[in-house]
Amino acid sequence: MSRNYEIYRSLGISKEVLSYGESILEELRERFLQIDSTAEYNQLKVIKAMQDAKVSEACLLGTTGYGYNDLGRDTLEAVYANIFHTEDALVRPQITCGTHALALALSSCLRPGDELLSPVGKPYDTLEEVIGIRPSRGSLAEYGITYRQVDLLEDGGFDYENIKKAINSKTKMVTIQRSKGYQTRPTLSVGRIGELIAFIKKIKPDVICMVDNCYGEFVERTEPTDTGADLAVGSLIKNPGGGLAPTGGYIAGKKEYVENAACRLTSPGLAKEVGASLGILNSFYQGLFLAPTVTASALKGAVFAASLYEGLGFPVIPDGREERHDIIQAVTFGSPEGIVAFCKGIQAAAPVDSFVTPEPWDMPGYDSKVIMAAGAFVSGSSIELSADGPIKPPYAVYFQGGLTWPHAKFGIMRSLQQLLDDGVISFQKGVFCLNRDK
Ligand SMILES: *Cc1c(COP(=O)(O)O)cnc(C)c1O
Repeated sequence: MSRNYEIYRSLGISKEVLSYGESILEELRERFLQIDSTAEYNQLKVIKAMQDAKVSEACLLGTTGYGYNDLGRDTLEAVYANIFHTEDALVRPQITCGTHALALALSSCLRPGDELLSPVGKPYDTLEEVIGIRPSRGSLAEYGITYRQVDLLEDGGFDYENIKKAINSKTKMVTIQRSKGYQTRPTLSVGRIGELIAFIKKIKPDVICMVDNCYGEFVERTEPTDTGADLAVGSLIKNPGGGLAPTGGYIAGKKEYVENAACRLTSPGLAKEVGASLGILNSFYQGLFLAPTVTASALKGAVFAASLYEGLGFPVIPDGREERHDIIQAVTFGSPEGIVAFCKGIQAAAPVDSFVTPEPWDMPGYDSKVIMAAGAFVSGSSIELSADGPIKPPYAVYFQGGLTWPHAKFGIMRSLQQLLDDGVISFQKGVFCLNRDK
């Protein structure tokens, strides 16, 4: 038995669960070495970008009021632009979340009469209201911007024929979501995104290609802006904030488009020149510095969860052997009880609010009840160990994060323990089995 058994036992993990978990880990050594190697590369990329931009102690301080000549803010934006290999970047605490960053990029680059195309199927739930797929106040649709969508093929491939047909004289912008989000489709690799963009640009070279990069940052050695994306957009309470950024979002890309977004965020004429950083920059810099290894911890957790639940017979996306392109792991439980028990387990493993019980609720922006488990230092942060699942078929839970690998490991085993304790699965004659009535 593991030398750490006693401490696990004190946290509610049984011998059966721990030894099953340890046996799964035996098989993952090689995978973890690859993840560490990518983290090493990205750590150096971040350090190089900080050195190139001459980040100084003064950059860690903040401004107040208008925020003119905010050295730390402007330097941080140069660091992001260097990491993403783009002309410019907008990295601000005034960008309230990922949805806001995406809405900014879209609404600032599109004009009435333009059309937006998603060639990768339905976008993330909250974007439906931004675009106006679900009618909403202030949506792009209300401003006379139309939307077209081409779904992925059954096998997850791009439907090139219909994408070509969908591109027309009005098509101004394309939105490509890298991560699967709350869907059970595969996540797109940076390489595949590059192929798709090359195809689209061949048909219409001036179309603006934006990638929703949420959950994808630092998972690979390259980012979508390295393979043709004009804009990459994401949230700082996911990967690039490294768990330390308490709020914020980023938009990295071509100067003109970043300028568009800045004019929309602040005001025409003011653009990037205003926006006090207050006292937040230290956490943005330090979080970015930690982001590659934090992302690696989350990735190890995702691979571990995939292998562990696959071993019990639950469908998992991606599976335990597949190459990773984001930090999200979907596990399909097929029943509300499975989702709820899983989330209870993740919650019980948290450093903060471990004693509360998560319940399904009507979350704004989503079209079904959602249960969320997170005992996070930053509210809603999903680079921290967290899980969420919409209470609708196929009853899949989406698990992500873990600022450290030992926490991710504990959380996943704690979730398995909860499934056992709640009777969703049982342990009989040395094996775990699914209780069919739950
Ligand atoms: C999280 C996420 C968003 C939205 O980000 P919020 O910060 O929750 O508003 C958009 N797209 C994808 C793929 C995401 O994972």
